[in-house]
Amino acid sequence: MAENARPAEEAKEPVSRHFIEQEIDKDLAEGVYNHVQTRFPPEPNGYLHIGHAKSILLNSGLATQYGGKFNLRFDDTNPTKEKTEYVESIIADVKWLGADFEDRLFFASDYFETMYECAVLLIKKGKAFVCDLSADEIKEYRGDFNTPGKNSPYRDRSVEENLKLFEEMKNGVYQDGEKVLRAKIDMASPNINMRDPVIYRVAHMPHHNTGDRWCIYPMYDFAHPIEDAVEHITHSICTLEFEDHRPLYDWVVRECEFENPPRQIEFAKLYLTNVVTGKRYIKKLVEDGIVDGWDDPRLVTIAALRRRGYTPESLKLFVDLVGVSKANSSVSYAMLEYCIREDLKLKKPRMMAVLDPVRLVIDNYPEGQTEMLPVPNNLENPELGERMVPFSGELYIEREDFMEEPPKKYFRLFPGNEVRLMSAYFVTCTGFEKDENGRVTVVHCTYDPETKSGSGFNARKVKGTIHWVSAPTAGCVECRLYENIIDEEKGKLNDDGTLNLNPNSRTIVSAYVEPSLMEAKKYDSFQFVRNGYYCVDSKDSTEGKPIYNRIVSLKSSFKLPQQNA
Ligand code: ATP
Ligand code: MG
Repeated sequence: MAENARPAEEAKEPVSRHFIEQEIDKDLAEGVYNHVQTRFPPEPNGYLHIGHAKSILLNSGLATQYGGKFNLRFDDTNPTKEKTEYVESIIADVKWLGADFEDRLFFASDYFETMYECAVLLIKKGKAFVCDLSADEIKEYRGDFNTPGKNSPYRDRSVEENLKLFEEMKNGVYQDGEKVLRAKIDMASPNINMRDPVIYRVAHMPHHNTGDRWCIYPMYDFAHPIEDAVEHITHSICTLEFEDHRPLYDWVVRECEFENPPRQIEFAKLYLTNVVTGKRYIKKLVEDGIVDGWDDPRLVTIAALRRRGYTPESLKLFVDLVGVSKANSSVSYAMLEYCIREDLKLKKPRMMAVLDPVRLVIDNYPEGQTEMLPVPNNLENPELGERMVPFSGELYIEREDFMEEPPKKYFRLFPGNEVRLMSAYFVTCTGFEKDENGRVTVVHCTYDPETKSGSGFNARKVKGTIHWVSAPTAGCVECRLYENIIDEEKGKLNDDGTLNLNPNSRTIVSAYVEPSLMEAKKYDSFQFVRNGYYCVDSKDSTEGKPIYNRIVSLKSSFKLPQQNA
């Protein structure tokens, strides 16, 4: 093909830039900033979930796209809920997603000194005061949407008195809740966040990073803009619930006199149907023992998705498809499933595994013989080559692939019918045996040696092809079949506010598999033909005894919204 055909083709692609890109383009064009610096600022109070993955990929993606930098920063300014376990899991998750923060790993708690200095500066400017009102009183004075707030009786303390009291707060003179530092803004502001918000509180509590050094801690709305400014962040991208906090964000960076301060841009959170997003809910499922840990494959924490068999590529595809929006909405879980199928489709070998077995005996096959048959690994991707699979006269097939009395259009095994055993021979059903409960125990058949796959045999055709595993050499593995943890049809929440959980979210079965599947390592994944994609569980598998998690079944009702043929 002619080399010069390419640019024309590229020019045809729609160039649609989302609103954050448009804002950044504008800022760069107008010289507001001359570079792009983004960050992902998790609070280490739980594991990251799919929503965070969106934020991580958005922020790191923008940095890459604009030749800028991306920081991973722990927003660890609240010592009550934070743990080192979470810090470690978050770093692992961000790295796994492929977001490149290089050596730019920061902790907001490293800036406590700067934050303290900023607070002192505000006091000196008459823009902050120490307040003795209790938390309840502060709330009462704040007013609401319809009523303006009332000034605190401590609002007019002198700068000197405020400096002295704030220093005493820092030195541990006061008990928790006895005094707070508040920004002096406007108690009549229509935006309640601007009604003299608390910016520092007393909390006699050790911190995972700074130990006993501080007994006062900054509040989020004060700390976050300073963290961004200190790191020279240009675009502080956060979710919609912070939109009303933006005036306060701007006030803090302005009054603290940061040069070229960052700006905040909000986008809609990602919500998914049929699963639990939100740290608070996930934490509850973990704590109530409804799932086994933060990485239970039924959850959508990043750790759980990784364990289930999702790949970073599939999550990137998902985030791209979802896009960036200003309007809150829920995305179908089926779309996530679509993305992992797309990613694994051509990459993974297609293996034979029988999850609900019944024995198939080929009565005319030489007794005790096993032959090795070549089986293509992926018919859609010949590059994956082929493997040798043992075949014999005693096989396992799926119970549903045999019927004593078939309905119309059933092309699989039934007495007198001929089918192809995938990559092997044609077999004709000659009979079956049942136990005392009427359950089929053995299906009998004969095979035609002329019909060996790859032999060029084409004298007759069959309509059905079924898969199989040779019984004498079969491995037996535990398979964990997952369904959505919430049945959204019935509503996400019960009347009492508890989650409406699906009692069948995990089914455990044992399956017969080709011998090579016994050798698989943790995180290896495969297609089990005609069934789904499976991944070796990284936690409970042991050497030679893999446990397989079903990532996703093959069937899907999901269609891409604007898919053009
Ligand atoms: P949750 O609401 O699940 O408890 P959070 O917002 O409290 O999460 P943080 O650690 O404070 O969690 O968030 C880190 C970053 O991830 C923030 O910038 C936040 O806006 C973003 N984020 C959190 N949840 C989502 C989501 N569902 N979709 C997109 N971004 C999210
Ligand atoms: Mg939070």
